[in-house]
Amino acid sequence: MHEYLPDDCSLEEVSRLKALHWPVSCRDASIHLDRAIKGEVLKGRATPHDAVFLDLSQADRGFEPEMFEKYMQSLGINIRRDLLQIQVHHHTSNGGIRIDSDAQSKIAGLFAVGETAGWQGADRLGGTMLGSSQVFGWRAGAAAARVAASRPNPNLWPSAAEPVMEMLSHFREVQGEKSPRDLKEGLQREMWETLIVEKDADTLTRAHNFIEDERERMTSDLKIADPFDLILAFEHRNLLDVAEVIVQAALMRTESRGSHYRSDYPKRDDEAWLKNIFASRTNGHLKLRREWVAQDEGWTDQPEDLRIKPWG
Ligand SMILES: Cc1cc2nc3c(=O)[nH]c(=O)nc-3n(C[C@H](O)[C@H](O)[C@H](O)COP(=O)(O)OP(=O)(O)OC[C@H]3O[C@@H](n4cnc5c(N)ncnc54)[C@H](O)[C@@H]3O)c2cc1C
Repeated sequence: MHEYLPDDCSLEEVSRLKALHWPVSCRDASIHLDRAIKGEVLKGRATPHDAVFLDLSQADRGFEPEMFEKYMQSLGINIRRDLLQIQVHHHTSNGGIRIDSDAQSKIAGLFAVGETAGWQGADRLGGTMLGSSQVFGWRAGAAAARVAASRPNPNLWPSAAEPVMEMLSHFREVQGEKSPRDLKEGLQREMWETLIVEKDADTLTRAHNFIEDERERMTSDLKIADPFDLILAFEHRNLLDVAEVIVQAALMRTESRGSHYRSDYPKRDDEAWLKNIFASRTNGHLKLRREWVAQDEGWTDQPEDLRIKPWG
């Protein structure tokens, strides 16, 4: 841990902050714990499972919930004696499709809830996905039913399917080596290395180049062995689109805020960046613009606001 701590930060402070908001946030100095875990994996000093060991044998009694202790016991692990292998992972996505209070997107009739629709801000406080999936799930279902009941029979034009059919035949024609399954693993690994926990202009540029190359591989080095591979190939194309939005937005945001930590811009910069970033795609081209979404309502960040408290 000491290799990763800045001079003005102690191990005790990092542990205290991590315990305050469980492990779900890394918005403050507690990020140095996540940085250390990821750093050790990247340096090749982790276990064969890309994990590090957590030693709870010296932890104060009562530190860990009893349920956790019992659960681990049921797996044959005594957390007072055995080392645990731990790793950082993607827990929830911040941001997503812009929705209204009925969970309807800007495209009439298209609803989005849960992880696809970003209703929280820069940081995901513990438990908020319950609201995102259950409350908005209920609202979306009710609103979608109203929309469906008020519409005439759907009129589907064959022309709407043309771009999809075109891509389908293209995927079938490519005579390459890489199965969509292999590509997915590679993409996940690359994004884990370049995006999660901390990033800077170099890692983001590497992610950007990877995405560009991957698009190229999709057109020249894809191997479709069975019909299911076609579905995976489509999914992979979608994953690349989402990855591109995340990478470009992270490159654009030259500050650190919530779970977005840029090691080349480690400070929060309200003057330049009290803003949301909106992404749209026209004729295949990604466009990003920044806008403070609540400025029309005159909302500004206040010192007492919940979101800048150190817990959650
Ligand atoms: C380890 C962990 C712990 C968490 N703990 C908490 C917590 O304590 N409190 C909290 O609020 N949140 C927690 N979260 C976050 C929360 O669980 C998720 O954000 C939430 O479950 C997302 O719900 P969802 O319905 O949007 O997505 P998911 O639950 O991911 O559902 C998406 C579904 O779509 C299916 N799918 C994917 N692709 C396709 C396809 N092409 N065709 C058809 N189906 C498809 C998937 O199989 C999946 O069933 C936790 C997350 C993790 C990973």
